[in-house]
Amino acid sequence: MADIIDGRIVARKLDAETKAQVDAMVAAGAPRPGLAVILVGHDPASEVYVGRKLKKSNEVGIRSFEHRLPEDTSQEDVLALIAQLNADPEVHGILCQVPLPKHIDTGVVLRSIIPSKDVDGFHPVNVGRLSTGTGGIVPCTPFGVMKLLDTVFDDLTGLDCVVIGKSNIVGKPIAMLLLEREATVTVTHIETKNLPDIARKADIIIAAAGAPELVKGYWVKPGAVIIDVGITRLKNEDGSTRLVGDVAFDEVQHARAVTPVPGGVGPMTISCLLANTVQAAQEQLAGRSGDGSDIDFADLPDRSMIFAEGGK
Ligand code: NAD
Repeated sequence: MADIIDGRIVARKLDAETKAQVDAMVAAGAPRPGLAVILVGHDPASEVYVGRKLKKSNEVGIRSFEHRLPEDTSQEDVLALIAQLNADPEVHGILCQVPLPKHIDTGVVLRSIIPSKDVDGFHPVNVGRLSTGTGGIVPCTPFGVMKLLDTVFDDLTGLDCVVIGKSNIVGKPIAMLLLEREATVTVTHIETKNLPDIARKADIIIAAAGAPELVKGYWVKPGAVIIDVGITRLKNEDGSTRLVGDVAFDEVQHARAVTPVPGGVGPMTISCLLANTVQAAQEQLAGRSGDGSDIDFADLPDRSMIFAEGGK
């Protein structure tokens, strides 16, 4: 039987660390970290996610500022709110829940959040910093995936990792984080040929395709570790629903360890959001802009890809 990597336990530990950091900041006289959450419209899943984020923020001592806007709010009004939050010293992180209503350009809205408050890590500045190894805010789900891997491995150097899915918010940042840790990374997607053969060579499989039970038992080498990011809600015959991951869980019991769905990556995402909010607050209080203009490039580690000697 494969070991189960229990995301709930890892998330609770991270929350405790985040709370301790908040308590230490407040005890030292710093302002309490603040997270603004924007929800436009009434998407039921988004309502649930936002509710959980606000509740968990309060549990770790982060101040939350809730902005619920009607479905027909104009893009200009959303941008005006973000501009106000960008300038608000009590707000250290801004999260705009997606999906946004169709009349709003999600890219324009997300890019309007200043990089230092972009606790989702979606802004191109943070993406660029991640891919050049120059810090910045790491997207929450990829951050959570790495924390789960850390419960199994001390060192990822040279391990063969196959990432299934190349989205900007999950697959690509995970690949960047694995490369930072000196793993050998193959990124695959819907057009990849011979995916089962590629997956079968992997020491680590990260499944982030949103394709229910895509990864079958014969795709998995004995002893591999599998992180299942995918979550799809499927309808049962009786009309009830169930959550299914990208991995055929029962077929992969020859793996060394696997994350369940639910209870694997999912709980990590909110905990990483809260950790990012505290990191953002600390950076802002230290006077760092978060846009990269304050990086001392002369002081970067040798392995940075910027001004690299042969890329390493
Ligand atoms: P996306 O649709 O943006 O990207 C999916 C990627 O998977 C694409 O690159 C696509 O080419 C690839 N893909 C799709 N079907 C495939 C197949 N059959 N074979 C190989 N590759 C395939 O999705 P996303 O936003 O990256 O999310 C991926 C999954 O992760 C979804 O199920 C989503 O719900 C889940 N997710 C979970 C969390 C969490 O907190 N646990 C957070 C974000 C996303």
